[in-house]
This record gives sequence, C-alpha cells and structure tokens, in this order.
Amino acid sequence: MSNDIVTNLEHVRQRIAAACRRANRSPEEITLVAVTKTVAPERIRIAWEAGVRDFGENRVQEAAEKIPLLHDLAPRWHMIGHVQSNKAKPVVDLFAMVQSVDSAEIAERLNRRALVVGRTLPILLEMNVGQEASKFGFDVSPAEWDHTSAAIGSIVALPCLSVQGLMTVAPIATSPEQARPYFRKLRLLRDRLRSLWPQVSWVHLSMGMSDDFEVAIEEGATIVRLGRAIFGPRPVE
Ligand SMILES: *Cc1c(COP(=O)(O)O)cnc(C)c1O
Repeated sequence: MSNDIVTNLEHVRQRIAAACRRANRSPEEITLVAVTKTVAPERIRIAWEAGVRDFGENRVQEAAEKIPLLHDLAPRWHMIGHVQSNKAKPVVDLFAMVQSVDSAEIAERLNRRALVVGRTLPILLEMNVGQEASKFGFDVSPAEWDHTSAAIGSIVALPCLSVQGLMTVAPIATSPEQARPYFRKLRLLRDRLRSLWPQVSWVHLSMGMSDDFEVAIEEGATIVRLGRAIFGPRPVE
C-alpha cells in the first residue's frame, strides 16, 4: 500500500465500484469513511481535496486535538472506537455520528448530552459478531440475547438518538473470504432487529476495512471504514 493518498483513493474507488457491480449495487449506496487515526492533519486535507467527506477516529483525545485544526473543511466525523462513559460530552460535541455504541449506559449518556445541546445524534450499534473477548460490541450469543435485545429496546426509545443500523469489526483473518460469514451475520442480525423494531431505520451496515471491504460490500455494507488502503501503513502501536 503506497503513501500516495490520491492514487490510493482512485484504486479504492475503483475497487468499490467493481464490488458493487458484482453485487448488483450502486456505488452511491456506499459511504467511504477514511479512518484517520495516527494520520496528520495535512494528510487528511489531501483526502478531503480528493473528495472524501467522511472521516473516522477511534480515540476521543486524538480527535479533540485534530478536529479543530480541520474545522474549515467541515467534514462529517464518525466516532468508530469504544466510548468511555466519561467521554459522552466531547463525543457528542465533536462527532456527526457515533458508530460504536456498545451499551445502554453509554447510549443514555450520549442521549443526555444530545438533549443538552439540542441535537439528534445518529448512532450505530456495534455488534461483536465474532464473539471475541478482546472486542467491544453487544454480545450476540444466544445465551445473552435477552440481555442484548433488552438493551437495544431501551436505546431505540431514547429521544435524542437516532439509531441507523449496525457496525462491526470482523475477527482478524488471513484472507478476506474468512470475514464473509461475519458480515453476513451482521446483515441477518439487522434483518432480525428490523422485524423487532420496524419503526427504526436500520439502513446502515458499517462493515469492511482495508483488507476485506470488497467482501463486505458484496454482503450489503453501506459504510466501509478504510485507513491503510488510503493513507498507507500506520506506525506500530
Ligand atoms: C482502524 C480502524 C479501521 C480501519 O482499519 P484499516 O485496516 O486501516 O482499514 C476501521 N474500523 C475501526 C473500528 C478501526 O479502529
């Protein structure tokens, strides 16, 4: 993966278009979120100039430093990392959408802050489809389903949040095809939630990263979150 952002974006858009053709979908259905963790503001500007309008950050601290430096661009910022309970205020103040809502408690805190500032906050519910102990997201195992569906029921009732769908991070894999069952699982889960709460929109499936976004699009992704495919390799954490 090269460091030339403009060239990388061209390739990414071609690959999105090709995956859409295979799946009989329109590229307009796909929102590309450029994941900018560890990426310097000057490099984010290059992506903006190349037409990217949605950006994702996973840490509040880093986002709070960078977002003000790019305020003249007015992009949509997506929170894609776990939100700690004491961070609801900056998250509502900084981000257009929170993709990583993983508990009723954090949802209530976001709702409270959204009420204070007088806005409706679009959110996605993060699902731990791989049932990995190391990952955040709602537990989708049958044993925990009552608990999970009760939490979701309380979240969809919050007046200042607008639930728009689901997000997941598939388990680490050695080939993109290995992620397919997890993406399919997220789509089926969405269909199930839609039948339980038909008044909620459930339009979005945020799934697919640099190594597997084409498979995710074939399985119904409406949002793909790409970091390395656009900005090149990240420094090792
Ligand atoms: C880092 C990150 C991405 C992007 O990962 P790449 O492999 O660089 O495309 C997507 N989603 C989340 C939640 C992330 O933390």
